[in-house]
Amino acid sequence: MAKIKKKVKTIKIDADKCNGCRGCEIVCSGFHANPQWSSINPARSRIQIITDRLNNKWLPVFAGEYTPAECMGRSIYVIDGKEYNECDFCRASCPSRVLFVEPDSGLPLKCDMCESDPTLKEPKCVEVCLNDVLVYEEREEEVEEQTSMELVETGLASMINKYGFDKVAETITRMSQKS
Ligand code: SF4
Ligand code: SF4
Repeated sequence: MAKIKKKVKTIKIDADKCNGCRGCEIVCSGFHANPQWSSINPARSRIQIITDRLNNKWLPVFAGEYTPAECMGRSIYVIDGKEYNECDFCRASCPSRVLFVEPDSGLPLKCDMCESDPTLKEPKCVEVCLNDVLVYEEREEEVEEQTSMELVETGLASMINKYGFDKVAETITRMSQKS
C-alpha cells in the first residue's frame, strides 16, 4: 500500500491544572449538536472529566475507539497522592460503563478533533479551556494510505458488531432525513 504524509493532531493534557469547570464538555456537545449549537448536553460530549471532588481530582479523557470487549484491567494507580483506577485513563466506549455513549441512540461517541469545514484553528475544547489544561499540537507522519471508503467500512463494521444491522440502518435513515 502506498505511503502518504498525514497530519497527526494531538491534544496534550495537564490534568493538574484542571479545575473541573466542564466548559470543554459543554462546548463539545454544542459544537456536535445537530443543528450545530442547537442543544447543550455534556452527556453527548466527546471529552469527559472523570471527577472525584473529595480528593480534588479532575481528569479530562477524550473518547477513543469503541470496543465490544470488557477489559480485565482493574489496577489502581496512586499519582501525587491521588488514587486512579485503570478505567479512569481509558478512552474506549465499552460495555462496562455509560461513558462515551450517545444518550438517545446508544451509539458510541468518538472525538473527531472538531473536523469541520472551514477547518478550525484549534479544537473547541482547547479554545474554551482557560487553564491551559489542553494543548493542541500538530505533526506530520508517514502512514499507509487508506481510502475513505475503507475508513467508513471499518466504522460501520464495528457499530454493526455491537448494535446489529437493523439499529445502525435505522439510525442512518433517521440522520439522512434530518440533513
Ligand atoms: S475546560 Fe479545562 S479546566 Fe475546565 S474542565 Fe475542561 S479541561 Fe478542565
Ligand atoms: S477535540 Fe473537539 S470533538 Fe474532541 S473532545 Fe474536543 S471539542 Fe470534542
